Amino acid sequence: MIVIGGGIVGVSTALWLQRMGADVTVVDRSGWGKATSAGNGGILAACAMVPVTGPGLAKKAPWMLLDKNFPLFMKWRYLPTLLPWLRKFLSHANVEDTHRIADGLAHLVADSVAQHDALADGTDATDWIIKTDYSYAYQNRAAFDADAFSWAIRKKHGFDLTMRDGADVQAFDPSLADDIRLLATMGAHGFIKDPAGYVAALGAEFEDKGGTLVTGDVTDFDMSDGKIKAVVTSQGRMRCDYAVLTTGVWSKPLMKKLGLNIPLESERGYHIVFRNAKGGPNHPIMLAAGKFVATPMEAGLRCAGTVEFGGLEAGPSKAPFAFLRKCTKDAFPNMTWDDEIEWQGHRPSTSDSLPLIGQIRETGIYAGFGHHHIGLTAGPKTGRLLAQLIAGQPPNIDLTPYAPARFA
Ligand SMILES: Cc1cc2nc3c(=O)[nH]c(=O)nc-3n(C[C@H](O)[C@H](O)[C@H](O)COP(=O)(O)OP(=O)(O)OC[C@H]3O[C@@H](n4cnc5c(N)ncnc54)[C@H](O)[C@@H]3O)c2cc1C
Repeated sequence: MIVIGGGIVGVSTALWLQRMGADVTVVDRSGWGKATSAGNGGILAACAMVPVTGPGLAKKAPWMLLDKNFPLFMKWRYLPTLLPWLRKFLSHANVEDTHRIADGLAHLVADSVAQHDALADGTDATDWIIKTDYSYAYQNRAAFDADAFSWAIRKKHGFDLTMRDGADVQAFDPSLADDIRLLATMGAHGFIKDPAGYVAALGAEFEDKGGTLVTGDVTDFDMSDGKIKAVVTSQGRMRCDYAVLTTGVWSKPLMKKLGLNIPLESERGYHIVFRNAKGGPNHPIMLAAGKFVATPMEAGLRCAGTVEFGGLEAGPSKAPFAFLRKCTKDAFPNMTWDDEIEWQGHRPSTSDSLPLIGQIRETGIYAGFGHHHIGLTAGPKTGRLLAQLIAGQPPNIDLTPYAPARFA
């Protein structure tokens, strides 16, 4: 059995398959968790079932792009390539689709902390999981009310809020600037204090228990009578009866080899680690105005967010870093730090904001990618679902929303 890709989805799939008795090899071109799974905000965002494509986004998006205070960026020469995906993406920005997508995502995210616990149980990776609450910080009640639609969806899925306003905000968290006057806090969340270290620890557990990691590039599939026979890699041909594609944003060319044209784009994201930060928050906060998370990780405060469209090839832009830096200084005016580490990566985003989880026709090849903003949160559950499917133990949730066949 071969798992292609060693990010959070791949390592979770490999571990669950191994625990079910399978002989598993993981192939990754760069080793465990070196891509998107390393640079995320680290939040186990159990409440993150509301997609980016909320109602009205199609009308608001052009203004958001022009607004220097909004965390949306575009490399304009990429726009013609982006347009077919963007049209499909924005077509879901309505009330009915937002509820349908949220219902689908809720199954994958709502029990995230328990799923991470189960995956990491008995391994060194447990040390990286921090259980905590998760707060959204707003300038005022009007800004909170503007998000009422999203909060109603989270409430429907069982997330209740503790509200703090006025001076209670700074009494609860003295690191926050005085102009942040409202904090909405949910329990039953968590974060990973070093996402790269966490995936590496899970990978080490997989190898300790007899699994194999091959460093190589997968370029094709060797099929016979519509079934997988081998995976073609830069290290040679590797025979297998089953393969799982957990290659994140890089899954599109491999899916094309299987005759499926998946509308998958990079929502490019950025982070800055403020190393050895002092005077910052000691719990994770979503800064609603800048739509970024501030997570107190082991190396320092990691501020992660922004969306930029520009494809996979272009290097990082300066403006998203400048935006994150300014918003962080505004939110935590008394924080000091030693130095900064900048990172840019690629969220794997399908045009309908739902991942692909399931078998591609009857090929023996399973898809497990397309987790856009929620891959760290949903990775362990996705891996478990895939392992159950392959082991012939159908999970007791409806997998139709994630069916690869919806793009056939
Ligand atoms: C700025 C930012 C902040 C984020 N914050 C959060 C957050 O707080 N919480 C959350 O839940 N999610 C967050 N996310 C999203 C999350 O990081 C991703 O959804 C998740 O990491 C995707 O994991 P993955 O395993 O699918 O892909 P990846 O981690 O990208 O792994 C894919 C792997 O496949 C390998 N690969 C690709 N092609 C091939 C090939 N042909 N052959 C061999 N190997 C190949 C790559 O080397 C890579 O290791 C954030 C993302 C960004 C960018």
